[in-house]
Amino acid sequence: PDVTAAGRSDIAHHLHPYTQLRQLEQDGPLVIVQGDGVHVVDEHGKRYLEGMAGLWCASLGFSERRLADAAHRQMLQLPYYHAFSGKVPGPVTELVKTLMAWAPTPELQRGRVLFANSGSESNDTAFKLVRYYNNARGRPAKKKIIARQKGYHGVTAAAASLSGLPTMHQHFDLPLPGVLRVSAPHFYGNGKPGETEAQFVDRLVQELQDLIAAEGADTIAAFIAEPVQGAGGVVIPPDGYFPRIQAVLKQHDILLIADEVITGFGRLGQPFGTNVFGLQPDMVTVAKMLTSAYVPMSALMVSDAVYQVVADASASVGTFGHGYTYSGHPLACAVALETLRIYTDDDIIGHVQRVAPRLQAGLRQFAEHPLVGEARGLGLIGALELAADPASRKPFDPKRGVGAYLVKRAQAHGLILRVLAGDIIAFSPPLVITEAQIDELLAKTALALDDTLAWVRGTA
Ligand code: PLP
Repeated sequence: PDVTAAGRSDIAHHLHPYTQLRQLEQDGPLVIVQGDGVHVVDEHGKRYLEGMAGLWCASLGFSERRLADAAHRQMLQLPYYHAFSGKVPGPVTELVKTLMAWAPTPELQRGRVLFANSGSESNDTAFKLVRYYNNARGRPAKKKIIARQKGYHGVTAAAASLSGLPTMHQHFDLPLPGVLRVSAPHFYGNGKPGETEAQFVDRLVQELQDLIAAEGADTIAAFIAEPVQGAGGVVIPPDGYFPRIQAVLKQHDILLIADEVITGFGRLGQPFGTNVFGLQPDMVTVAKMLTSAYVPMSALMVSDAVYQVVADASASVGTFGHGYTYSGHPLACAVALETLRIYTDDDIIGHVQRVAPRLQAGLRQFAEHPLVGEARGLGLIGALELAADPASRKPFDPKRGVGAYLVKRAQAHGLILRVLAGDIIAFSPPLVITEAQIDELLAKTALALDDTLAWVRGTA
């Protein structure tokens, strides 16, 4: 392929995140220069429907004027201030009030929120905070965290350790000690032949109980989970999974950290995954759609019970020794506030509830396609898990790159999608997508599936 001048200057010096770098050196990047609603435009003027909202984040699409105006106003009024040692930028005070009204449980609404700049940082903060909490309670041995295979919690050293994707650990000497791992609630991939979903849940609950018994509950501080696993494959937990897991955690005084970085603010058709699955988390992390991704911002919500212990400990140590230069950055606060106002003014969650059935029904129809092992999703998130033999769920040889081929074909048809490990094609469009645009997304997906089928048959 011809690499453009912009592409050449990019690959000369830009070390791309999450990319096969040698491949990129050959192909060059797709240079995106403009946003227009749910579409983006490349340097040649070609338009793409952004089927992933970027990285599961640009909820309001790519040209929301109100966010640009809010950012502009804030830059002129107070472009920076911090929240260390007894100060606070004005917009933070308003944002915490609004965020607490969104918080998914009464315990969290009475709690506190700590700001950072990325999902990774907020999960890293949670990792540190469970230690602080248990040390302050005189239980220094209670510090391991249980995380799940296929989990994605970010890339800082602690957050990558919590994540359960092998490429995040290989060559990095991760995970850090103190992270325990249990299976993902991925029935299609992990269910045994003949096993029902209920039996699968029984097995996962038993696995958790066995792990706690082997390690000792007095060594385990927390369990971290995405309500719906995103980057690990859009894994929708089976019925009964979370209530059963949560009961075991409560029995052993193990905190629950809900990573709502993808699911927070309406992706699933409810404000949070916590609402969908009836969770009672002690901590919740959010990022991405908090600002519609227009500026970086994340937050960690903690329950009042956790906060009270932390506050006592900070008094005894002399300070709460954690926080970022940009925790509660005024620009991010202004954009987050405006984002949350738009969610309310435009009834974004009602909109997701209205249009999501169109996406889900369309994806389910692809289950009949010869390349598709399973079609799944909830709200405005979904996935097609490709299979060499859908009947036996036999996957493709990962080296063939069938999912990557499909995503390339979708791109040729003007649709941006993302392939996840295991040839899983992810869908996570902006929440403002219309039914007509969902039809466009599905039609282009159908073309890409058929192109890929022809290629698979031709190269088999
Ligand atoms: N948690 C989840 C569930 C995510 O999907 C992501 C990013 O995709 C993160 C955490 C990390 O967020 P960030 O990339 O902002 O550090």
